[in-house]
Amino acid sequence: MTFTRSDRLQALPPYPLAEIDRKKRAAIAAGRDIIDFGIGDPDQPTYDFIVEAMNHAMRKPERQKYPFGGGIPEFRREIAAFFARRYGVKLDPQREVLALIGSKEGIAHLPLAVVNPGQPVLIPEPAYPAYQAGTIFAGGVPDVFKLTAERRWLPDLDAIPADVAKAAPLMFLNYPNNPTGATATLDFFRRAVDFARRHDVLVAQDAAYNELYFADERPPSILQVPGASEVAVEFHSASKTFNMTGWRIGFVVGNADVIAALAAVKANVDTGVFAAVQEAACVAYANLDRPELHASRRMYPERAALFCEALRGLGFTAEPPTATFYVWARVPAGHNSAAVCDRLLEQANIVGVPGSSFGPAGEGYVRFSLSVPTERIRAAAARMKGLKW
Ligand SMILES: *Cc1c(COP(=O)(O)O)cnc(C)c1O
Repeated sequence: MTFTRSDRLQALPPYPLAEIDRKKRAAIAAGRDIIDFGIGDPDQPTYDFIVEAMNHAMRKPERQKYPFGGGIPEFRREIAAFFARRYGVKLDPQREVLALIGSKEGIAHLPLAVVNPGQPVLIPEPAYPAYQAGTIFAGGVPDVFKLTAERRWLPDLDAIPADVAKAAPLMFLNYPNNPTGATATLDFFRRAVDFARRHDVLVAQDAAYNELYFADERPPSILQVPGASEVAVEFHSASKTFNMTGWRIGFVVGNADVIAALAAVKANVDTGVFAAVQEAACVAYANLDRPELHASRRMYPERAALFCEALRGLGFTAEPPTATFYVWARVPAGHNSAAVCDRLLEQANIVGVPGSSFGPAGEGYVRFSLSVPTERIRAAAARMKGLKW
């Protein structure tokens, strides 16, 4: 037989990291010493107290069975307790919390729960690719709204045409933002909730980086807006918070009907999150104030300061982020982002992701992930000193 990929699969834009990944692999195969600021995967190991908790949990026979459903009761209660402590938001553990196999899994499946074929879905650009992919798999039609530096990478909600907003069942937001590192205020979330109410659209806010902050003001939850759970859900992840990307655990909170619908999709696709991982994640979320976590909150700004200084020396405009581990750097005037990345790789063996690979609105920027050991960042800075455009 001749095999053809489905139309939906073919409709996906290329994965942003694919091209840069290919070039990186070729350079590594050629024996070059690459410093990789490409992928957003913490270099530090999972905190020891969490690994210990996992060690204990996985020995329990009842944790080794099919987990089924939206999360063990202990996990849902722990998340509700975390939300009450951290955000002052009260959640019903059974109806308003759902465990996910990493937040990406829930994000990608959400459109199957709330979008019909042909409906527009409001998606930011530049953005994390799962919003588009999930939309396309569900037969929805991505309708992008641009984020710009002038508006600090927050959308101009009033610029979204009313007819599109009315027709769209779903809108994605992501703050603190990947790739730009931008953060949102509670006031912005108030406006987003108001927009959702006026146009009858569900807002799905991706808060994967909410606990990775470096400023005094901590990133808010959209659920802190009174009544938000009537029109919003929020995705959270243990991945970046606790250096647990490989463990695959996250959760979604908010509107109970939407959560029930997503749970119904998932019941037909997966069989839940490994219960031992859920138990370990309980220990993680109960211990967000441990010194190890605060040490990370000091480590990233140190890296950011080092790296941004080196970038500015090359003519970039770059400021350390106040949340996320991304430096979103404006390329030197007169250059384009893909060419700048090629140049960095060719001349300094440094990998960054062209902003344009997150959509045309990212052109003119490069995303550097600070998930690189600090001494390697020093080495990168030294290499960059010798560079000429
Ligand atoms: C890393 C990331 C996620 C997904 O993380 P999981 O490991 O699937 O929980 C979601 N959204 C954004 C913006 C991310 O950068």
